Amino acid sequence: MTQTAAAVPWGRLLPEARQEAAGIVDAACVRLWLGEVAARLEAERDFLTQLDAAIGDADHGVNMHRGFTAVMTKIAGIEPATPGQLLKTTGRTFVSTVGGAAGPLYGTAFLQAGEVLGDHERFGPRLLLDALRASLEGVQRIGAASVGDKTMVDALTPALGAYELELRMGGSLETAASGAREAAAEGMRGTIPLQARKGRASYLGPRSVGHQDPGATSTALMFAALEHAVIADRSQRFAGGARRPVSGS
Ligand code: ADP
Ligand code: MG
Repeated sequence: MTQTAAAVPWGRLLPEARQEAAGIVDAACVRLWLGEVAARLEAERDFLTQLDAAIGDADHGVNMHRGFTAVMTKIAGIEPATPGQLLKTTGRTFVSTVGGAAGPLYGTAFLQAGEVLGDHERFGPRLLLDALRASLEGVQRIGAASVGDKTMVDALTPALGAYELELRMGGSLETAASGAREAAAEGMRGTIPLQARKGRASYLGPRSVGHQDPGATSTALMFAALEHAVIADRSQRFAGGARRPVSGS
């Protein structure tokens, strides 16, 4: 879709300002993302649980929803907080409130991402790439799953690859997030014909074939929420003038 300068508020900015705005993630943007994940998990809770009913124990939607409800309460109580603090709190809350496989796996992913972001108040798309990489490494260190094992790794790995490729080709945070969302969804759909080799679904052997993996589905949801958040954040930032300045404090 071609967007005109009149259709998008940031379209009227000077190129440098536009570029700077496009490359920034701050605590408000991270809060937008986490809120969007929570809302989508609420909407998709039953669907995720149905997916898990087919090849697991029918608790993935409930687990994820419980975890993110606790996360939203927790992060509402820490203001101000840096992006790193928000993600580390998310990880810790997940580990303590979500059982099963997803709790420690997603918990570690958020914790590792938060570690990489350190004390930065705001950061660009390259540091986000490092954070996503650390998340995948954490998930694989704990769960030892590779691509093709029919897990969340099948959505996370291609999302990371697409995000990195887009940045290498000169893309922005928004286009990289968009590429990641698309690749995660494709990876998620790609789990359908696979036989599970990790987690509870692996107990089913060949009977796990023909079903979409719940964890890959929740991961794809998180990338869809990320794309939504970075685009919504940018338009909020510039709607009616810069309410949240890009630089300075
Ligand atoms: P449990 O399987 O303990 O009930 P959930 O239902 O919440 O936990 O989460 C299941 C999801 O966890 C699976 O769909 C899969 O994507 C993911 N998963 C399970 N084991 C692993 C693993 N070893 N590595 C990565 N992801 C895994
Ligand atoms: Mg389960």
